[in-house]
Amino acid sequence: WARTALIVAVVLLLTLGFMRMVQDRREARSRRAALRDPLTRMLNRRALVKALEHCIKDASREVHPLALLLIDVDHFKRVNDTHGHISGDKVLRHVSRVLASNVRSDVYLGRFGGEEFVICLYEADESQAVMIAERIREKMKLGLLFEGRTIAYTISIGVYSRIQDEKMKLEKFIDCRDKAMYIAKKEGRDRVVCYKEQYQDVSGKERNMNEKY
Ligand code: GH3
Ligand code: MG
Ligand code: MG
Repeated sequence: WARTALIVAVVLLLTLGFMRMVQDRREARSRRAALRDPLTRMLNRRALVKALEHCIKDASREVHPLALLLIDVDHFKRVNDTHGHISGDKVLRHVSRVLASNVRSDVYLGRFGGEEFVICLYEADESQAVMIAERIREKMKLGLLFEGRTIAYTISIGVYSRIQDEKMKLEKFIDCRDKAMYIAKKEGRDRVVCYKEQYQDVSGKERNMNEKY
């Protein structure tokens, strides 16, 4: 009976070990899923915020420039209304593909929510960030071929880039980038706008980006 007891104990241990392994894998899978946007499989807002905080801390310690790009699909509501919600979803997936294929694979990018996406460019100064943003904007204009027709759409990109200091907070970073996006929309969409305190609007008038117009 001693041998039988030993065999039972071994089988029990192996079963417990296997169950533990299955449970660990399931937990790891759901942890990964919690950081992904289900539609595009990109990082979701929660994961992006974590990544951005990490980038800001790192960049301030090593005095690297850091650029944040906010990409927003122009008149996306119209895309939904004209082509349907399913086509709208396809457009969002198309945006994610174009973004991913135009930046290095180690760059943080994700869907911030709705039709808004974020790219965090580490060690990119303003001119490099604008160059990448313009390239993405041009590529996006080619549109998406779906069921024999092209769904054309444009995007606006707000850029914020600077050498970080430790006092820089994520909220401030996002706020500056939002202001640049506001100007991009106001000035006609389909454009890249960099955050600057002073800038010239389309009519050449000197304005302050911190004031709404
Ligand atoms: P603007 O150029 O000013 O950004 O205009 P907009 O129409 O893009 O912006 P608005 O915020 O008015 O509308 C965003 C729309 O995005 C409304 C919402 O129905 C749509 N939307 C948000 N999430 C999804 C999604 O997951 N799938 C689809 N198909 N549509 C979505
Ligand atoms: Mg939006
Ligand atoms: Mg939009």
